[in-house]
Amino acid sequence: MAGLGRVKEISGLGLRIRGLIRAANGLSVSSQSHSQSSSAQEMETEAEQRMKRTQVLECKGERQANDIKIADGKKKSSEILESEAATMDQGKRVRGVEAEANFAKAEESAMAKHIKSLIQFRGGPITVAEYMEEVLTNPIAGFYMNRDVFGAAGEFVTSPDISQMFGEMVGVWCMCLWHQMGQPNHVHLVELGPGRGTLMADLLRGTAKFTDFSQTLSVHMVECSPALKSIQRETLKCCPKDQADSTSAVDSQKCKPTEDQISQISGAVISWHLDLEHVPRGVPTIIIAHEFYDALPIHQFQRTPRGWCEKLVDVAEGSGQGFRFVLSPGPTTASSLYLAKRMKWASLEEKAKIEHVEVCPSALKLTAEIARRVGEDGGGALVVDYGEDVMVSDSLQAIRKHEFVKVLQDPGSADLSAYVDFAAIKHAVEDEAAGSSAFGPVCQSQFLGALGINFRLEALLQNATEEQADALQLGYWRLVGDGPPPWLDKDDDPKSAPTGMGSRYKALAIVSDACGVPIGFQ
Ligand code: SAH
Repeated sequence: MAGLGRVKEISGLGLRIRGLIRAANGLSVSSQSHSQSSSAQEMETEAEQRMKRTQVLECKGERQANDIKIADGKKKSSEILESEAATMDQGKRVRGVEAEANFAKAEESAMAKHIKSLIQFRGGPITVAEYMEEVLTNPIAGFYMNRDVFGAAGEFVTSPDISQMFGEMVGVWCMCLWHQMGQPNHVHLVELGPGRGTLMADLLRGTAKFTDFSQTLSVHMVECSPALKSIQRETLKCCPKDQADSTSAVDSQKCKPTEDQISQISGAVISWHLDLEHVPRGVPTIIIAHEFYDALPIHQFQRTPRGWCEKLVDVAEGSGQGFRFVLSPGPTTASSLYLAKRMKWASLEEKAKIEHVEVCPSALKLTAEIARRVGEDGGGALVVDYGEDVMVSDSLQAIRKHEFVKVLQDPGSADLSAYVDFAAIKHAVEDEAAGSSAFGPVCQSQFLGALGINFRLEALLQNATEEQADALQLGYWRLVGDGPPPWLDKDDDPKSAPTGMGSRYKALAIVSDACGVPIGFQ
């Protein structure tokens, strides 16, 4: 348990909050069902299953080996200059070479055809943000829209897949915030981009015994993917409200996705929305965004002798590659609006050094909406993601079947994501000045440590078999550890081992000023 020593124990927190954490960790041992008595057997079976699904799989936040350095290259003198960025992917560590080769041979996909027609329709290249948005969330062929992309059989794993402790700790954070909010008797618990619904299920199970809290919750899932909505319904063991009193379990697959449902895990009402703006206002709100911001579309800019230009996506005529990056000949609408805004927040030193900048206007808009909502209605938001507390330079990455692949190859078949610019999020909260403040970011190991993940692990280990204990400890290490696993031998291939997420992933809170400083950020 090399990771245990790294996790800071709770320090400097109010006694009430400390008591809450201990109570939460001591009482809610079962992760499966609050209605049955706590069953360690069930809980640990879950931990083992997760270990099998996820132990050697990489998470999205692993930075590719090299920050991309774009070499000097010959430029064409056409109006839209060919960017050196066209060759950038070759400098990246691409582990899925064989998979790539197979995709290269495959026929052009519906998504590739769609992007090409979009470029033709526009009469020129599209922005990276448009490309990313189409690839991820196009209603017909978007990456997230029609299938389960998570877990061993999918494209990548996330923290809730790795260990139930992640969702449980987020539940502890929400409960503590609820206390700081003055224990309101009705709370909207919103999750942005809930994936398979695993985090929410673990949160509801973990907090179900604290009925003072759990009975105040109505849950709002913000999800654009019909396929994932239906998986979330199953994960949360949903049934229609009118069948909720029935004693027999309800087949959640038969429920209609659009109507409000009751989760048989905790009894909370669950509803789905396409975006945060559709979640009703006027009620104190707790918002969770885990690995949501990284999926929001970014614009990419590059410094050139002509000034800042925008990186764009064009059809790669004749190269057989499908698409290529090109540079705008000069400033674009996005560079005048968003790059200028981001640069205002940067230090002189940062501005002098940086050659590439990513800006995510959707993240800034979402943050402003969150800051207003929690400022006016009360409550707070927790953002956990991989990212940096400075301007992000060139982080857009594609992952297919747990391997990094080229961003422009076979669009729609791989996840696209970018590092989160936490510094910009903080500035967006400040600019909004809506009665809320940002705290952090702190690294994931510090955040989970402050919430007592080590106490939780110890409690779970008490009833665990050897195999179950291994699963729990591996999951724990992956959430809070750093770099390659300490148990790797010299001869082991580091590529086949998971990497710790403790410092790559960070937590940031946006909280109503009435609440004070949230737990984990003192
Ligand atoms: N939070 C989950 C899944 C993260 S993946 C986890 O940690 O496991 C991103 C999630 O956000 C998916 O559920 C995806 O369908 C959803 N998503 C991506 N872009 C979205 C958008 N613009 N609006 C709503 N949901 C979106």
